[in-house]
Amino acid sequence: MELIYKSTRNDNETVTASQAILHGLAKEGGLYVPSYIPQLDIPLEELVGKSYQETAYEVMKLFLTDFTKEELCYCINSAYDDKFDCKEIAPVKKADGANYLELFHGATIAFKDMALSILPYLLTTSAKKNQVENEIVILTATSGDTGKAALAGFADVPGTKIIVFYPKNGVSPIQEKQMVTQKGKNTYVIGIKGNFDDAQTGVKKMFSDEAFGKVLDQAGYQFSSANSINIGRLVPQIVYYVYAYGVMVKNGEIKLHEPMNVVVPTGNFGNILAAYYAKQMGLPIAKLICASNENKVLFDFFQSGCYDRNREFVLTSSPSMDILISSNLERLIYKLAGESAAKNMEFMNDLASKGLYQITDEMREGLSDFWGGYATEEETAGVIKEVYEQAGYIMDTHTAVAAKVYKKYKEATKDMTPAIIASTASPYKFTRSVMNAIDPAYDVKGDFELVDELNRLSKVAVPRAIEEIRTAPVLHNTVCETEKMQEEVEKILGIREA
Ligand SMILES: *Cc1c(COP(=O)(O)O)cnc(C)c1O
Repeated sequence: MELIYKSTRNDNETVTASQAILHGLAKEGGLYVPSYIPQLDIPLEELVGKSYQETAYEVMKLFLTDFTKEELCYCINSAYDDKFDCKEIAPVKKADGANYLELFHGATIAFKDMALSILPYLLTTSAKKNQVENEIVILTATSGDTGKAALAGFADVPGTKIIVFYPKNGVSPIQEKQMVTQKGKNTYVIGIKGNFDDAQTGVKKMFSDEAFGKVLDQAGYQFSSANSINIGRLVPQIVYYVYAYGVMVKNGEIKLHEPMNVVVPTGNFGNILAAYYAKQMGLPIAKLICASNENKVLFDFFQSGCYDRNREFVLTSSPSMDILISSNLERLIYKLAGESAAKNMEFMNDLASKGLYQITDEMREGLSDFWGGYATEEETAGVIKEVYEQAGYIMDTHTAVAAKVYKKYKEATKDMTPAIIASTASPYKFTRSVMNAIDPAYDVKGDFELVDELNRLSKVAVPRAIEEIRTAPVLHNTVCETEKMQEEVEKILGIREA
């Protein structure tokens, strides 16, 4: 049966999976959601021992029903190949009593690679299916990791251009170096004088500007999104939770059919939403533990049912989670609001005009699958040092937020259900913060000296992604005001709105 996608902001807009991937965002700024969540159709015991690619097929065929088996296998096998530095693709490592699902073995050493290495294939396949002749312009706002992962995925992909906006002073030195050294004739990287929310708002505005869309169309272009609002990013993320379940059983951490908890360091709410969908598909997941850094909007939301972005934006050592508007939460709100676009719109309009909304008590009951927690900067650094000293395992700052929140969760609830912690970036991507957490004396050293020092302490090989940027020349140096984002896009595409 074909799975149709509908918009969270308009009951009348329905599309196929490939169309949803192509458009990225629905009209009126809505997000596409599947009209129902398909159930896993293979017995759980068959997940045990399946490869990552095989698991990916079992999950993705249920969501992307207008793709043929051949098309899906082509996308999966092209994405999950030796771009990843280990054949498991997403290995599970045990340290300090927790299971770390390492999602950072792809080209840019952050978990965004899990979805962004397959998105270009899904998108170009979708374009063919829908007889699209325009060139596809991927427009992306990044808090640091999406940008590089999308650039790496789309570089020199025929029929596409990719434009990335990042907060000039809001990403780590390694993240910035990774982006501004990106090769490829179709890649554009622009720093903005604002924060991630400004970048995301600017991008969304261009997307929903219909007049601008017409101008683009006449010039032979159309936008698509590589942000986690695209279901082409969401669906591939469901896979690793299903895969992890098989590994947990295989490793003897849980028995078949027993549940596991999942802990996710959260920003835009994409990764944890994928885990929620995995649960809805019938995967035995008990609690979804949502970990925030000091930008703890989501923690407060789970406490009070009030989503309130009116607060100071804090720059933390986990920049990819420095977000006050978690876009993907809208998909959950829509579901909790009884899949009513009208009700969802009320909340989203409140968010746009007042910066906050309050959900009803009835809707709050639907949040019982989740547990929200947060970690301060000090706690984040503390847990990196602690786990290193006790287990010799060094984690990045984002993963550390999750590790700390997981400790708080166990303390608060005494729930000892075995858990998977989504480990979202390599410590090499946030070397300075990680090394400072272990010993502040490291702070005087240079970025690449720290890389070598981390290599000595962790005994984990320096990833290719880091070796590559040691000497790579800067190829992108444009910086613009937030208000000038559209102008920059027009310059790149050689068009001007009349
Ligand atoms: C993007 C990112 C996150 C947050 O993921 P969301 O899907 O936006 O919630 C966490 N950690 C790292 C390293 C990231 O790059």
